[in-house]
Amino acid sequence: MNSSIEWTDATWNPVRGCTKISPGCRHCYAETFAERFRGVKGHPYEQGFDLRLVPEKLTEPFAWRSPKLVFVNSMSDLFQAGVPDEYTEAVSRVMAIADWHTYQVLTKRAQRMRNLLNSKLRFAAEKENIWWGVSVEDRKYGLPRIDHLRQAPAKVRFLSIEPLLEDLGEINLTGIAWVIVGGESGPGARPMKREWVISIRQQCRIQGVPFFFKQWGGVRKKKNGRSLDDRTYDEYPSRITRPIPEKAECIASAEEFEKSLQIPSPSQRVFS
Ligand code: SF4
Repeated sequence: MNSSIEWTDATWNPVRGCTKISPGCRHCYAETFAERFRGVKGHPYEQGFDLRLVPEKLTEPFAWRSPKLVFVNSMSDLFQAGVPDEYTEAVSRVMAIADWHTYQVLTKRAQRMRNLLNSKLRFAAEKENIWWGVSVEDRKYGLPRIDHLRQAPAKVRFLSIEPLLEDLGEINLTGIAWVIVGGESGPGARPMKREWVISIRQQCRIQGVPFFFKQWGGVRKKKNGRSLDDRTYDEYPSRITRPIPEKAECIASAEEFEKSLQIPSPSQRVFS
């Protein structure tokens, strides 16, 4: 429920597992974590990083008793080909109903996200409490995702420029509400140059976009910290906060949602 990721409060994983798609995936932390538990009976990652839908997790946000910033699918990618449209729709319905939380949906499959936000997920695109973002690691794979994101009718769009692998040059930030920048961390981490970060910060300043500097990264991430020019950058887009309904109301909403899915009620699981 509590996340150590600097730009969020909690993670929610109604999908687990993924496949690599571009250079930013090379040292995927989710894969490293999940594969550690492959074959461990009863562990959530018993199947390693293989794609798995986890419908029993769908109603989890109804059970949290304080409004949160929620990173959706930190261990996966909601828009990968193996996730059916109907399931992306179910996840989006939860985010639209439990709107006292703010959700951060991040993908590298920007074209599919754009297509669905223009069609089946239109209802969720227009919600202020759902932020839709793309990962940008380089010019070749990352920058085109920004154009795809801009073509989506999302109310709030954001970029996670992490791991930043090269100078991105000039970035069109029109329609972008938030930029996160970070370097890669862990064994074999590819270095990030200061001037690449400064260039993005400068462009955010000029184009009026909130800038969040997550970390320098490197093999010793803690030592390198997250200070840039002797300060931290923890800017966010403006966020609507709504009071959380009574517990009974949340349970009723979760049950109603479950009935519409025609799978067994998870209320005992998430509210126990
Ligand atoms: S898209 Fe994200 S979760 Fe999937 S393999 Fe790449 S880095 Fe990992």
